[in-house]
Amino acid sequence: MERLELRTKESIELIDITDEVQQIVRAKRVDSGICVVFSRHTTTGIVINENEPGLRSDILRLLDELVPRGKGYLHDRIDSNAHAHLRAVLLGSSVSIPIETGAMTLGTWQSILFVECDGPRRREVFVQVVAS
Ligand code: ZN
Repeated sequence: MERLELRTKESIELIDITDEVQQIVRAKRVDSGICVVFSRHTTTGIVINENEPGLRSDILRLLDELVPRGKGYLHDRIDSNAHAHLRAVLLGSSVSIPIETGAMTLGTWQSILFVECDGPRRREVFVQVVAS
């Protein structure tokens, strides 16, 4: 298993990690298999979508609208970041991508996006490549 270290800069932010993951997959020299990208945190998400600046802003705005800060969440009594946990619940913490002929089978417009929901922080993403 490989580990990616990310230093996020904003409270909420999208980071494209496709190139880093693709490098790991290529280095493993697995012809056919699966790649799992997993975030070890409860206030981050990992999604696959298009890395287009307008859409990136739209995604962040959607999260803000769906789960606004400080709406009387019970977890806010502990550390006031319930909105970040709840956004992470909607996003999910991992994605799996099939590998064929030594590379991920992502579509033309698909990128792997790490979603920070409670930054800035140091974050870890695990990448596990499994041959089949
Ligand atoms: Zn919390």
